Amino acid sequence: MHPVSHRGSLFIVSAPSGAGKTSLVAALVAQMPNVCISVSHTTRAMRPGEEEGVNYHFTDRESFLRLVADGRFLEHAEVFGNLYGTSADWVEQKLAEGLDVILEIDWQGAVQVRHLVPAATSIFILPPSLPELEKRLRGRGQDDDAVIAHRLSGAQEEMAHYAEFDYLVVNDTFDHALGDLKAILHASRLSQARQQETLAEAIGELLSSPPANG
Ligand code: GDP
Ligand code: ADP
Ligand code: 5GP
Repeated sequence: MHPVSHRGSLFIVSAPSGAGKTSLVAALVAQMPNVCISVSHTTRAMRPGEEEGVNYHFTDRESFLRLVADGRFLEHAEVFGNLYGTSADWVEQKLAEGLDVILEIDWQGAVQVRHLVPAATSIFILPPSLPELEKRLRGRGQDDDAVIAHRLSGAQEEMAHYAEFDYLVVNDTFDHALGDLKAILHASRLSQARQQETLAEAIGELLSSPPANG
């Protein structure tokens, strides 16, 4: 890990279920330094292959609602009949350490986070087509037919919110979409607001030293 002299930035990634956000974000974090993924709390049942604390913090409705009442979530929302929420403390700790944090959340959560953190950068991932989205949901092989039908019928509702996001990425070819995500993070790290913090000392010297030739 490189030493960091600035607060991290917050990124929101949303997409309809099956568009590929989890795979893309996992690949992004594996290839870029100083960025981490927030592990959400959820009341959804664990899928085969998922692990407690890795994919989600799996919890029951009662415990989730207690965390809501205690103000422990940065945002929370009900998606497909399950509750999902982002730990406020965890996110704050990582940002304070200088790490960029990616939230994989739905559009309702994105609305809440934008309100609390206006500087957050939001990215919406679109599938190349509806038949391809269905193929990916089925191909993942982790949800039964009723759950897949429910997620497909919710896809257009989720996608209807695309215009609320700063960036749109189409996940057609995986590596192309991954390159797009990397470019967005990279550009955000070069933004004036962020560079001003990172380069504060160097900029101070550049502006205070006398010019070389009088
Ligand atoms: P997948 O997206 O198909 O892998 O399905 P999941 O069941 O993992 O997630 C379902 C939905 O919940 C997705 O739209 C996510 O964006 C959303 N989601 C996951 N975690 C959170 C969270 O912490 N907060 C909110 N608001 N939404 C979440
Ligand atoms: P989400 O988190 O948005 O629900 P996932 O990352 O679980 O989506 O991806 C859904 C399925 O689609 C997975 O089986 C994944 O391997 C596959 N997938 C993701 N991106 C692509 C792509 N560009 N081309 C083909 N399959 C993909
Ligand atoms: P899944 O249960 O398939 O992993 O996710 C279903 C949906 O819940 C996805 O669209 C995902 O983006 C959303 N989701 C997952 N975690 C969160 C979260 O912490 N907050 C919000 N708002 N949505 C989430």
